Amino acid sequence: MRLTDRSKELFAASLKHIPGGVNSPVRAFRAVGGEPFFVDRAKGAHIWDVDGNDYIDYVGTWGPAILGHAHPGIIQAVQSAAERGTSYGIPNPYEPRMAELIKELFPSVGKVRMCNSGTEACMSAIRVARGFTGRDKIIKFDGCYHGHSDSLLVKAGSGALTFGNPDSAGVPKEFTQHTIVLPYNDLDAVCQAMEANPGQIAGIILEPVVGNAGLILPKDGFLEGLREVTKQHDSLLIFDEVMTGFRVAPGGAQQLFSIVPDLTCLGKIIGGGLPVGAFGGRADVMDCLAPLGPVYQAGTLSGNPLAMAAGIVALEALKSGEVHQRLDQLGNRLENGMKKAAERANLDVTLQRCGSMFCGYFGDHPVINLSDAMKCNRDLFTRYFHGMLDRFVYVAPSQFETGFLSVAHSEEDIDRTIEAAEQSMKCIKN
Ligand SMILES: *Cc1c(COP(=O)(O)O)cnc(C)c1O
Repeated sequence: MRLTDRSKELFAASLKHIPGGVNSPVRAFRAVGGEPFFVDRAKGAHIWDVDGNDYIDYVGTWGPAILGHAHPGIIQAVQSAAERGTSYGIPNPYEPRMAELIKELFPSVGKVRMCNSGTEACMSAIRVARGFTGRDKIIKFDGCYHGHSDSLLVKAGSGALTFGNPDSAGVPKEFTQHTIVLPYNDLDAVCQAMEANPGQIAGIILEPVVGNAGLILPKDGFLEGLREVTKQHDSLLIFDEVMTGFRVAPGGAQQLFSIVPDLTCLGKIIGGGLPVGAFGGRADVMDCLAPLGPVYQAGTLSGNPLAMAAGIVALEALKSGEVHQRLDQLGNRLENGMKKAAERANLDVTLQRCGSMFCGYFGDHPVINLSDAMKCNRDLFTRYFHGMLDRFVYVAPSQFETGFLSVAHSEEDIDRTIEAAEQSMKCIKN
């Protein structure tokens, strides 16, 4: 039996002081009902809540924990950096080291700037793309989430989707009128939009593997087509690799699919669990940023020594690709086991996976865009989620989120998860 008394007390207290009781909406469990648990500590692939429950964790703080929680090297680096001061607001030696590491893993990046979140990275990448091209319009795809800045909060996935209102109140129409939203994986729609807006599209931004509407892979030729059409129209191709960067391969989706974008947005893993983002790409574009150029972008805590120290350890550990081989093995085991569990439970589940990212959609159709994703059975997902939680397995509290494996997951963790999934799915049926 899962105890929840202490979490309930803390949530009740939070509700009095924090909107919805949480500092980011998906944490409130609204999509699945019930209340969130409060975390006491985490280690490796496990998370312990304040009532002492021990869960196998597939959220991994929404991606950053690729090496597992409380990685000793990261903790040590943060501690030793903290002893020398937590922030200076003037350059520190970690910053060029971090930039070098990013460039080593992402050869498309000629210059890079650090910021404090994925939201900032995407917002700033769009601004520099507009500044460089002198054009206002951007193309994005429905179901892709690029953080919560105004012009990108149109048909965004993830938390916005879970609440059934991809568009947010408080964003003036004028702020999104330059954002063209198209269906993912639809190259014809992109070509038509480019032709209908000649000389006006600053760039196309996308998740090269979509992790904010469940998990959607690019169709063969889609990314190549985007690369070609942006070149033809002198628009920039912007890969939002906040989630996929260092995750689907050391060099992200651009390495996996051999595409060279003009700009790349990074976040999550790059901070080793501390708040960090980065955006970089072609040096001629990045040199439009202040103080060299007219595009303003800044941050009091950008390049923060604690965050840089943590991120450098994470990237060093991921560089060789060995971690990714192991992750793929684990991913394979999980995928095959889950498929068999669904068969034995006699349920239709479409499992989609890219390395250590995965999503099981409750439905029998492949998912290549947001409207496919929306057709799956969210009611079944809700019951599945609670079934898993009661069996001490924590999966993301929404059908439209990706699951994440870490190298700290053991075969035993995975086998226990498959067992829990089979039982949960059998209970759903009844
Ligand atoms: C998480 C995410 C963001 C936003 O990053 P934050 O650090 O939450 O602001 C942007 N783009 C993608 C693809 C993401 O997964």
